[in-house]
Amino acid sequence: MRVEDSMSSVYSYDELQLQLINDNKEFNTELGRFMKEKWNLAESGFDYNVVAVFGSQSTGKSTLLNRLFHTNFSVMDEQSRQQTTKGIWLSEARERPLLIMDVEGTDGRERGEEQDFERKSALFSLAISEVLIINMWENMVGLYQGANMGLLKTVLDVNLQLFQNKGAARTLLLFVIRDFVGVTPLKNLQKTIEDDMHKIWNELSKPENLQNSDISDFFDFMFIGLPHKVFKNEQFEKEVDLLKNRFYDKDDPNYVFKPDYHRRIPADGFPQYAQSIWDKVINNKDLDIPTQQHLLAQYRCEEIAKEENEIFLSKISPFKERLDNGEIIDNLGQDLLEFRDTAIKSFSVEGCRYRQDIYEKKKSDFLEQMNNTLYSYYTAQITNAQKAIVINFKEKFDDKVIDDNNDFKNTFDGLYENSLNEFQAVVDEITLPQTNWNSNEFIKKVKEELNTIGNNIRRKKVNEIRFTIDKSLRKEVVLCVRSALNENISENLWEDLFDKYGVIVEQNENKFINKATVYSCEENELKHISKELKKASWDAFYDTIFDETKDTLMIIRLKEKFESIFRYDSNGLPKVWKPGDDIDGQFQNSLNEAYKLCDLFNRIKIPLTKIKEITEVDNIDEDALEIIEPSKKKMLINRFRNTVEILYIDAKHSVVSTKAE
Ligand code: GDP
Ligand code: MG
Repeated sequence: MRVEDSMSSVYSYDELQLQLINDNKEFNTELGRFMKEKWNLAESGFDYNVVAVFGSQSTGKSTLLNRLFHTNFSVMDEQSRQQTTKGIWLSEARERPLLIMDVEGTDGRERGEEQDFERKSALFSLAISEVLIINMWENMVGLYQGANMGLLKTVLDVNLQLFQNKGAARTLLLFVIRDFVGVTPLKNLQKTIEDDMHKIWNELSKPENLQNSDISDFFDFMFIGLPHKVFKNEQFEKEVDLLKNRFYDKDDPNYVFKPDYHRRIPADGFPQYAQSIWDKVINNKDLDIPTQQHLLAQYRCEEIAKEENEIFLSKISPFKERLDNGEIIDNLGQDLLEFRDTAIKSFSVEGCRYRQDIYEKKKSDFLEQMNNTLYSYYTAQITNAQKAIVINFKEKFDDKVIDDNNDFKNTFDGLYENSLNEFQAVVDEITLPQTNWNSNEFIKKVKEELNTIGNNIRRKKVNEIRFTIDKSLRKEVVLCVRSALNENISENLWEDLFDKYGVIVEQNENKFINKATVYSCEENELKHISKELKKASWDAFYDTIFDETKDTLMIIRLKEKFESIFRYDSNGLPKVWKPGDDIDGQFQNSLNEAYKLCDLFNRIKIPLTKIKEITEVDNIDEDALEIIEPSKKKMLINRFRNTVEILYIDAKHSVVSTKAE
């Protein structure tokens, strides 16, 4: 369906006014005909003016326009409270070449399509009118939302981008304060509004060439207070008449139509001009209103976030120093969260006035920015806790007595769990909601450190046990070998000795295993250390045997054996040789016993397999068991014989001398 086809049915008309823009946002091409036929304006040249009105729904705009200009804009019916037709209405004022534009919008609280229309029609009005009446209740003054300041800001912003350049026509903003009571003087209200306007102006994102411009370069302000139409009807009428003069009486000192407000469009070109403005507002994508609003929203939200971030930083910075000093700060997470919440709340108060999607995005950006800052607080607190907890764990561990009742594993597990719980509590407290902070690595690290400490302590203790057992084991072995080789040597010397040795090894191994088990030594670690202990015991055993069979000791041993038979009788009394005693025979017999002893010491006479079984030392061979090799044995025997031959001679002599007496 083409626009032209639908037109007649879509637009509303009456005698004096037309719906310039309908609620499909279509421009009424009947405007030219109206200008010519109904209003007689087509021939007016520059001699006409344009006034528009801006303000919230149902603030008496249409009522005021009708009263001022004798137009016939529809007014909301008080009884039925029915909405008037949406759109922009255009009418001629009575007795003056003056076009009046009435905008029927929504109450401004609705979003989406309605807001879009409101914005566009407000921008259109501002762009084409010389005087823009800004209508508001007195009690809305200073209220950003209520007085439509948010909308005004957007409109001014886009207007600046779209239509305003240096030398462009200026516009009078005529603020009409409705239901003006008079308690607050008008000039105070005026001041509030002016301040707001300047604030809005400063916050606008201005094009490069207008960076330093002032709002007064583009706008003049005028302020009027109108009493309540119903309660103070008389005063209302009087004030409206006075206001009317400003539009009708060229000699009025406040006459509103200054030449530099005029857009300089001849009346016959006005329809075309108005349409082109509307097209620009509606169609130009480069200058799309949402884009402008988008930019404005971005700019403002970023600015607000920046301000709030400064405050936020100043609040949290004192904690930084304490954290750097290693402190674990109580309730840090709670405090930081409060500061962050406050910052977001403050941001929202101002930021929510801007485009919802941008505002939400910037809010989450701001949150993320703060979270990034807070992350170093998070890691510092956790790192401090980690250090303290590890130190504490070690101290507590050192104080613990570990015995059969309270073995290493129990002790470790108990302390480990406590420490981890303590750590987890700090981590939980400092982990703020709405963050993606992850403590896994920290927890892993603490676990590792605690385990390392535990292992070190365990290893140290096991080593101590090993050291003590090793010492006592070797001492016992040495004593055992010494006594075996020196006292009551029997035929079964080696079997007896090795039996005793085996018992000693087994006892000490068990002792070690019992003690080490308390320290939860692992099976293979136990085996390994046991093996080392046994090896050491074998070394001690073997070395002692060689120490005890040195030449001199062997000769003494042989000599003692010889003497015990040759010089002493079976009662242990020294023999007195008498003539006829078989000295030669006894000498030989004693020698033989000594030789037998020497043979006993030749080698360690225990089966290799048995040795290996008990000592777990694999690399022993038969040769190693030989103590006195044949050549050495010969030498020993010679030396021994030399020492005992003198005894033989002494014995012989003693018999001779007895005979001689
Ligand atoms: P518009 O939507 O801004 O054009 O408002 P209308 O002109 O349709 O008026 C809305 C309602 O406010 C109507 O019921 C009017 O009777 C009422 N009204 C008009 N002027 C005033 C005024 O000065 N004070 C008060 N309190 N109500 C008014
Ligand atoms: Mg109205």
